[in-house]
Amino acid sequence: MRYVKFSVERTAPQYEVSKKNFEEQTKKLSPWQLKDEYTNEERYYAICPKCDNPVRLIGLYKATNRQPFASHTGKTIKGGLPILPPHNQKRYEYCPLSKKSKRIDPDEHLYAPEKIHIELYNIMRENFDKLVYFIENMLEIECSTNFWREALTMYVNSKGWLFRWISLENMPWAFCYMAMCQKKLYGQKIKIGGYLHKAIEGKCEQDAFSKNTGKYVRITNQGSTYLPSITLRFIGYDYSIDSDGYLVEIMRVCLDYANEEILSKQMTLDQQQFRNLLRYEMRYNIEKWKRLREVGHEMMPPLSVDGID
Ligand SMILES: [Zn+2]
Repeated sequence: MRYVKFSVERTAPQYEVSKKNFEEQTKKLSPWQLKDEYTNEERYYAICPKCDNPVRLIGLYKATNRQPFASHTGKTIKGGLPILPPHNQKRYEYCPLSKKSKRIDPDEHLYAPEKIHIELYNIMRENFDKLVYFIENMLEIECSTNFWREALTMYVNSKGWLFRWISLENMPWAFCYMAMCQKKLYGQKIKIGGYLHKAIEGKCEQDAFSKNTGKYVRITNQGSTYLPSITLRFIGYDYSIDSDGYLVEIMRVCLDYANEEILSKQMTLDQQQFRNLLRYEMRYNIEKWKRLREVGHEMMPPLSVDGID
């Protein structure tokens, strides 16, 4: 893996594995730097950003023919506790950055939450406005509070937050995948010239769109007697590690018009975008984002991680 963190906090920043980052973040203090109990050699440690297991940094001080990287230790590091977390085998096996996890079907779902799922649920509860902002940008749409309330109801009722591969980075995708399949776009605004608009434009009667309001048009059937349904679908979530050791997550967004697929577009997740968004204040449409935060609070009772591993 190419990114690590130095705290088990879910929203702790991630750093690319490098000598400079390691020294700045750890000052080379114990337990980030420890002598190996058998060989007496110096070892360098950090924490996996996805599964919170200890990882060893390789190639920081010895010249190798590849960039420094990190690898799960697969065991608890003697002398590492409590700053370095203990190794957790179950989380390791399901970590997208561990080689083992590739044998598991990406569509497999959990039945009982683990600590990470509850932490992410609580983060989403506090940041539902940011999640919506991310998805609206990604799809080039603007939807009503009610549209999002319905999707969130679906997400909570179907326990979509137990999506096996959920992480801080892909949380908006997990939401689309688990709560927005077959979601009707009727009554919502889509960006003129956006990819959804282009796909719909040629298919619908002109009166399917209301008069445009700035950059957007609303899907409606003003003057028309019947408008077939226009629905979103999200399929084919998958992940892999590329040849440079970076995590690559993909998913397809599809658009159906009268049950016929008119768009199927593969997307690749930007691994930093949602994490960065969490740090920003929403500066415009303040009322809209405030309403969405309230919806998040209302629909998602806070959950406790007490007693959950
Ligand atoms: Zn991991």
